[in-house]
Amino acid sequence: MIDLSTRDIKYLSGVGPQRAEILNKELNIFSVQDLISYYPYKYVDRSKIYQVSELSDTMPYIQLKGVIKAFREVGEGRKKRLVANFTDGTGFIELVWFGGVKYVASSLKLNKEYLVFGKPTLFNGQMNIAHTDLDDASDAILSSLGLKPYYNTTEKMKKRSLTSQGIEKLMKAAVELLTDPIPETLPTYLINRYRLMPLQEALINIHFPSDPQTLRDAQYRLKFEELFYIQLNILSLSSERKHKYRGIPFPKIDTYFHQFFYNNLPFELTNAQKRVLKEIRKDVGSGIQMNRLLQGDVGSGKTLVALMGMLMAVDNQYQACMMAPTEILATQHYATVVDFLKGIDVRVELLTGSTRKRERERILSGLLSGEVNIIIGTHALIEDTVVFKSLGLAIIDEQHRFGVEQRGRMWAKSLNPPHILVMTATPIPRTLAMTLYGDLDVSVIDELPPGRKPIRTIHQFDSKKKELYQKVRSEIAIGRQIYFVFPLIEESEKIDLKNLEEGYEQISAEFPDCNIVKVHGKMKPADKDMQMSIFAEGKAQIMVATTVIEVGVNVPNASVMVIENAERFGLSQLHQLRGRVGRGADQSYCILVTGYKLSEITRKRIQIMVDSNDGFEIAEADLKLRGPGDLDGTQQSGVAFDLKIANLAKDGQLLQYVRGIAEDILEKDPKQNLSENMVLWKNLDKINKRGENWRVIS
Ligand code: ADP
Ligand code: MG
Repeated sequence: MIDLSTRDIKYLSGVGPQRAEILNKELNIFSVQDLISYYPYKYVDRSKIYQVSELSDTMPYIQLKGVIKAFREVGEGRKKRLVANFTDGTGFIELVWFGGVKYVASSLKLNKEYLVFGKPTLFNGQMNIAHTDLDDASDAILSSLGLKPYYNTTEKMKKRSLTSQGIEKLMKAAVELLTDPIPETLPTYLINRYRLMPLQEALINIHFPSDPQTLRDAQYRLKFEELFYIQLNILSLSSERKHKYRGIPFPKIDTYFHQFFYNNLPFELTNAQKRVLKEIRKDVGSGIQMNRLLQGDVGSGKTLVALMGMLMAVDNQYQACMMAPTEILATQHYATVVDFLKGIDVRVELLTGSTRKRERERILSGLLSGEVNIIIGTHALIEDTVVFKSLGLAIIDEQHRFGVEQRGRMWAKSLNPPHILVMTATPIPRTLAMTLYGDLDVSVIDELPPGRKPIRTIHQFDSKKKELYQKVRSEIAIGRQIYFVFPLIEESEKIDLKNLEEGYEQISAEFPDCNIVKVHGKMKPADKDMQMSIFAEGKAQIMVATTVIEVGVNVPNASVMVIENAERFGLSQLHQLRGRVGRGADQSYCILVTGYKLSEITRKRIQIMVDSNDGFEIAEADLKLRGPGDLDGTQQSGVAFDLKIANLAKDGQLLQYVRGIAEDILEKDPKQNLSENMVLWKNLDKINKRGENWRVIS
């Protein structure tokens, strides 16, 4: 048996220190095993060799075998290209390179037998293939037998000739090591029962499959394993947790809750709110520790549910806290809660980064003595100086802004961990939620309070600014407020900020009578909060901003959200932004402004926004169109969510299937000591030691 995880990639034939460093940095590849688990993103059939005489420009990628008779550089400067005359005896075609001319020219050999691979095109009546890969015909044995693998690479890698072809070469060297047996990572009984390809065979065939069916079998085995271990890990963690910790029981619903419910609650709860409250009630009453994710679209009334949950804690002589990602949000929550609790004898406090020292000391001592029943705040709440007398429930609003680590730190605030309720308005599709939050129970508020007018979403090209401003003007005339949102991402920060500035200038010129505030993420938090408050208090009619306004700000009088360069936003993000309007009873609008030239997929994405107001539907569609790596909520949580081979958009069924299998195993082997499963627990340990990213999620 050989252990490829201990073989430094540096010593693999064809690598060496310089390339090793690039592989380390660019792809996180350190061992031969890491390299072998870097799977191709596509395959092309190279089993057939065509003849030059039969080529036509309607053919897809094809393969030729022949020699180069002559080559020359053509053109000057940036137009310089390299042209080679290639023949296989049945005719001539031109091979053309537009970049790296010097490098290619120095590596070409006349009359040497090459395999040429590419897509034939007709240019000026002459058939050519551009930017072809040239393989030495004599060492292209493996790939020419079957499907050729293609690997993603980066610019830096290409500079060290770690092109897809280059990686393929290394992969061949790595796969050759697999002639010695390697340890299997799944127990034999699973392999037999689910007819899986053994690991060794799967690893060879995922890179160099002999035919499409073998490839499918190899893919299935590796996807199965990847998803299975994720689920086994999450489920075993949560069952361990259930054994280790008892939950704090809240046996009664009492005066505070009832006072609020019968005297203060200004409206009827929606059915969805009632259902979720029952679910929470059941958890906290049962003696288990609640770990619940509450999903609900913007405006669905999560805050109210949170408040009523906190009152359950207070009724049982426990304290509750609610943590929000920004100061302005925490302040708004505080104001809402204080307002809701008018006349009820519950002490509520607000703690943020800008709470003054004296005030802070007063609050901290109130928490310690138990006189403060409910505390609302920002990250300031998880600092070590914040000590509770008896924390019974911790609520985290807008989860994706917090790291998981912070969720963990909330746990440590009490001897028995408090009940945890995580609230998010980013709808997470089921399959993704299962992977990301597999250890959390999920509640969903899938209904908006009655009387809301759905937001009207309009797509407008940026050539029609006049109409846009007209609309804005008429809304301002009836006393409404307007948001203009510009994209800002790190990679293009300077240009984006300039765009925002220009936009601000233009809007200022267009609306000279209006007060306009400007808010972006690069401002000092205090300045930002100040500008936001001006707008929230109605002292400005227009806010020009980047996505900093995305989370939670509540300005019911704002009725129009204009989103510039809408094509640059993720769908879930657009939906979040849109949720900033439509909070009052009036008709509100979301105007998505884009350029005229849009790709097919972008048009579809924008159309989904125009057609649907349902966050879940949008998130599902987004997942299908983009893949999960780009989904908001995964990126924003800072989790580099990257599966090696499975695809959550496509493999949802397999995910559920393996989750069932993992559940069965844990049920039969709760102590994790059956000999038939040894290999599972050993591997789980190994995976956790490697610190693979999904572990930290739970
Ligand atoms: P979320 O946090 O889910 O985005 P909020 O809790 O801020 O939503 O609620 C949005 C608005 O709807 C608030 O003004 C809230 O008072 C109101 N609201 C909540 N529940 C109801 C209800 N059942 N009926 C009417 N209005 C409600
Ligand atoms: Mg909210």
